Amino acid sequence: MMGIRVSELAKEIEMSNAELLSALEDLGVPATGVASIIDMDTAQAIREMFGKGVEGRKTVEIAAGATVKDLATAMGVPPSDVQKRLMKMGVLAAINQRLSASAAQKLAGVYGFNVKVKLEHKPVAPVNAPKHKSPGGGMQPRPPVVTIMGHVDHGKTTLLDAIRHTNVVEGEFGGITQHIGAYQVEVDHDGEKRKITFLDTPGHAAFTAMRARGASVTDIAILVVAADDGIMPQTVEAIDHARAAEVPIIVAINKIDKPDSNPDRIKTQLTEYNIVPRDYGGETECVLISAKKKQGMEDLLEHILFQADLMELKADPHAKPAGVIVEAKQEVGRGPVATVLMNQGTLRVGDNVVCGLAYGKVRAMMNDRGERLNKATPAMPVEIIGLSLVPKAGDKLEEVKDERTARQIAEQRQQKQRLNRLAASHRVTLEDIYRRIHEGEAKDLNLIVKADVQGSVEAVVGQLQQLPQNEVKLNVIHSGVGTISENDITLASASDAIVLGFNVRSDQPAQNAAEREKIDVRTYQVIYELTESVERAMKGMLEPIYEEIQMGKAEVRQTFRTPKGVIIAGCLVTEGKVTRNAEVRVNRGKETVFTGKIESLKHLKDDVREMAQGFECGIVVADFTDVQVGDILETFEMKQLERKLE
Ligand code: GDP
Ligand code: MG
Repeated sequence: MMGIRVSELAKEIEMSNAELLSALEDLGVPATGVASIIDMDTAQAIREMFGKGVEGRKTVEIAAGATVKDLATAMGVPPSDVQKRLMKMGVLAAINQRLSASAAQKLAGVYGFNVKVKLEHKPVAPVNAPKHKSPGGGMQPRPPVVTIMGHVDHGKTTLLDAIRHTNVVEGEFGGITQHIGAYQVEVDHDGEKRKITFLDTPGHAAFTAMRARGASVTDIAILVVAADDGIMPQTVEAIDHARAAEVPIIVAINKIDKPDSNPDRIKTQLTEYNIVPRDYGGETECVLISAKKKQGMEDLLEHILFQADLMELKADPHAKPAGVIVEAKQEVGRGPVATVLMNQGTLRVGDNVVCGLAYGKVRAMMNDRGERLNKATPAMPVEIIGLSLVPKAGDKLEEVKDERTARQIAEQRQQKQRLNRLAASHRVTLEDIYRRIHEGEAKDLNLIVKADVQGSVEAVVGQLQQLPQNEVKLNVIHSGVGTISENDITLASASDAIVLGFNVRSDQPAQNAAEREKIDVRTYQVIYELTESVERAMKGMLEPIYEEIQMGKAEVRQTFRTPKGVIIAGCLVTEGKVTRNAEVRVNRGKETVFTGKIESLKHLKDDVREMAQGFECGIVVADFTDVQVGDILETFEMKQLERKLE
């Protein structure tokens, strides 16, 4: 496979993964994450644009959060010129507009400079022009939303508890706290009070389940690894889930109080999974902690805030209120109770909302300490009551203008869901991916590979990588040893992936989930059968080539108009046969006046599937009302030809 991983290129040109990904996005290069492969040409272009040490290039040094003017001055060009360039890139910026590091790199690259951004351990003030301006508002920094992931017993729950205890506004912790699925802590950071939101649903299952429902709420993942145990299967799973979601990872090496703990061994192990600790020259922060002894908590929180600053997390508190359900349940005496995390806008008591299939008026709002609130701002988790039903985790909550509208929308959704159920909706089957390709989306085939032993995992992945992939790219987003589990299915569902098993089967929960989510799960006992079927799947993903197969002709003898205005052509089949749903060309003299489909075919009063030569029939051509006597209806079929991979 010719190309280079985003993470490798980033390292090479000394950019952070996040910066490179954002630069790639700005340039319109499809890259889904640090593990994405970009082709050599693009990589070269990026090197030239951002790379240090490009021959003959001078380096200008600017501070983080430098303005357009600062950069122009550093390069010795008129600020107005820089503005014009920005405009060409689609950014309308004032002279004193601050630039993100990636924007500055890109701009300087245009002028043939390398940029060195002096990062300060300090919040970076507003960057880039806000995308959404709202009256009296605009984007404002918001707290990061953090999920804790890791192998069972490595200390996730203990860490969540320890963090809660560090809350500075809660010095006398120990009062009544409620479990509401998420909580916020406030910490002192460089003399400033800063908030961090933690999703109190440890594990990637919950995290990925939400993503499968289209809700990405997590900004940063904390990967907990017990220093006395090392990287375990669920650790790898967590890494892959976070990667698939493009969420940056901070590693918390836990249990360092234990005598047999060996943090360096963990760091070395991490590099095998492409997570390179900072002190090994990489860019992943590894923080040593003891959740039990509450050691290293401040350090961990610092790194979270620092990462959050790099990500420039923002939301508009004045925009239309919208959030995501983190957790919901039915409670005796209170009815449906839902924990909401606001994405944007400010939700207030009394607001009318719709939320998945539920609707209602927010009757009351509580924070994680059980205190009543009147409003909730972005990234603030609150519990609300007043909904008509219990929504699902991952459902989106939106404010609407009045109760009637809320009810209408919810009822429409319920109706639609009933219909969908009947129509056996499918989600991540090959056909679906195939259809999406037709709608112009990327040609990636995401795979999850499970096998009986590590050796066969490697063999399968190795064989897959040898398939030609110039047109369709294979991404193995997760691989591992063991039975196909429900987690694999959830990840597949969130990432539109297909699950391949080699010498393993799905357990019952996985089978149920696959059934429910319509995930393609295929198991094999012979490697080449597996690779062959993937190859076939890839062929299915190529743009199909069609061949037209002639079927028959019918001459229009009469036309009728039904009371509803449908035009029926009374025809005689003169050649071959005419079938319902066939493609049809309406020929008038030498000209084709319409091409479409046969909508209905009748013999006398009966609907028929096909009519052979010599018979008379009534034909309705879909979406065409100008059939005339003497027209020849020529029917044909489009046959798809098999394509070879290139
Ligand atoms: P989870 O399954 O990842 O949520 O793990 P838990 O938080 O339930 O922790 C599993 C076990 O490890 C518990 O017995 C904890 O007391 C213990 N534990 C967690 N963190 C530490 C730590 O930093 N040091 C030590 N010695 N034990 C810990
Ligand atoms: Mg736990």
